[in-house]
Amino acid sequence: MTLSRRDFLGLSSGGLFLSACQLTPPQYPALKRARVIVVGGGFGGLNVAKAIKRLAPECPVTLIDRDLSYTRCLGSNLVIGGFASEQSLQQDLPSPLAAKNITFQVGEVVRVSHNPSRLHLADGQTLPFDRLILSPGIDFRWDQVPGMEESLSGQIPHAYKGGQAGLLAYQIKHMRQGGTLIITAPQNPYRCPPGPYERASLVAAYFKQHNPKAKILILDAKSRFSKQKAFTAAWDRYYPDMIEWISYETEGEMDHVDAPKRTVHMAFNRFRADVLNVIPPQKAGRLGEQLGLTDASGWCDVDPMTFESRRHPRIHVIGDAATIGPMPKSAFAAQAQARACAVAVIQSLLGRPPLEPRLINHCYSFIDQQHAISITGVYGFKAGSQELITLSQGETPPGALGETEAAEAQGWYQLILEQTFG
Ligand SMILES: Cc1cc2nc3c(=O)[nH]c(=O)nc-3n(C[C@H](O)[C@H](O)[C@H](O)COP(=O)(O)OP(=O)(O)OC[C@H]3O[C@@H](n4cnc5c(N)ncnc54)[C@H](O)[C@@H]3O)c2cc1C
Repeated sequence: MTLSRRDFLGLSSGGLFLSACQLTPPQYPALKRARVIVVGGGFGGLNVAKAIKRLAPECPVTLIDRDLSYTRCLGSNLVIGGFASEQSLQQDLPSPLAAKNITFQVGEVVRVSHNPSRLHLADGQTLPFDRLILSPGIDFRWDQVPGMEESLSGQIPHAYKGGQAGLLAYQIKHMRQGGTLIITAPQNPYRCPPGPYERASLVAAYFKQHNPKAKILILDAKSRFSKQKAFTAAWDRYYPDMIEWISYETEGEMDHVDAPKRTVHMAFNRFRADVLNVIPPQKAGRLGEQLGLTDASGWCDVDPMTFESRRHPRIHVIGDAATIGPMPKSAFAAQAQARACAVAVIQSLLGRPPLEPRLINHCYSFIDQQHAISITGVYGFKAGSQELITLSQGETPPGALGETEAAEAQGWYQLILEQTFG
């Protein structure tokens, strides 16, 4: 069978991405000349750089990150619960990229200029580009947590972005017997919607063994949360009386945090913690704002068909930083978007119309090492429109906390780590 590049890309935008990649595509001079730069060595950035290289090996791709290594959040709740080491979250960036013929450069991207399109690094270097793909992750809205600021997170960790999982794990391990861990969960949208509740579950698994009278209080800015029925059923079964979830409806909004006293003041009450984990409200990584790509919501506004910014042509944004219809912000979603974005960028470099992507998110949460729950969403375009909608969704039923799902979750972790960092 002869496969045209158009057929090839068509296959690639759907679930046949991997099988399509086994075939050798034809070479195109337009792709050979293209200068594609990816910013961000996380789940979105690495996967889009690799997908472009797989689809168009002739296309030169440079990936820039501010660091030589990447600290994963995926799997960090296992570290916080004492089930994995902090070191296991570290991923080396340069060698896997070199193996895929992707140029890696360390640098802090600070701005872009147009006509001609150039990327500017903090050290003064400039790099010309034809297509720029950003996956800069998230930043915190410290201004929305009175009493807290970035510098205090050394004592009151968020553990929601690079490098604090070990610190929170240490504090939990050294908490007094019968003490209280408070986790504050932010308003939507934010990175990994089930993250705070998986964290509570895994810490409860630790407390059950080492600090059985300890309590976990979740002070939530929301009135419901992801996989709520399955989490609640699991907590009743495995951690009765240990985890208490307090919704926005019960205690109102957070007023302020008294950091020295580790006390959270809500509208109607105050709660004192032995260990305090404030997960602040979030917005796109600062780069989105610096490049003028964010809207009033604080997230990057993109066309979900191509991931191209609605504010700047030829700049695409994927992963947590972007609003991609109703898709949640997860590593799985970032990888799915990365693959679809690779197809969109190649189509556009070839002067061809976009191909409609079908996107999937599947997200596991551990209850303990033996039990996990999951949620799946399939996203596509409303007929005849540019609007990305949820086509179908499903989650673990509350009564079905399976060991099978924990094994599947482990298998998926290994697969995405291999595909992203291998
Ligand atoms: C506790 C927790 C548990 C999670 N568990 C799961 C899970 O089970 N499953 C799942 O699918 N997802 C999970 N996630 C979510 C997942 O970690 C994120 O969705 C994913 O990392 C998003 O990828 P990204 O590429 O958008 O951003 P990131 O992975 O944050 O990568 C951003 C990269 O951009 C770089 N960067 C930013 N700005 C610049 C700049 N100006 N110049 C140069 N480089 C820059 C940063 O250094 C970083 O390397 C979890 C998250 C948390 C917090």
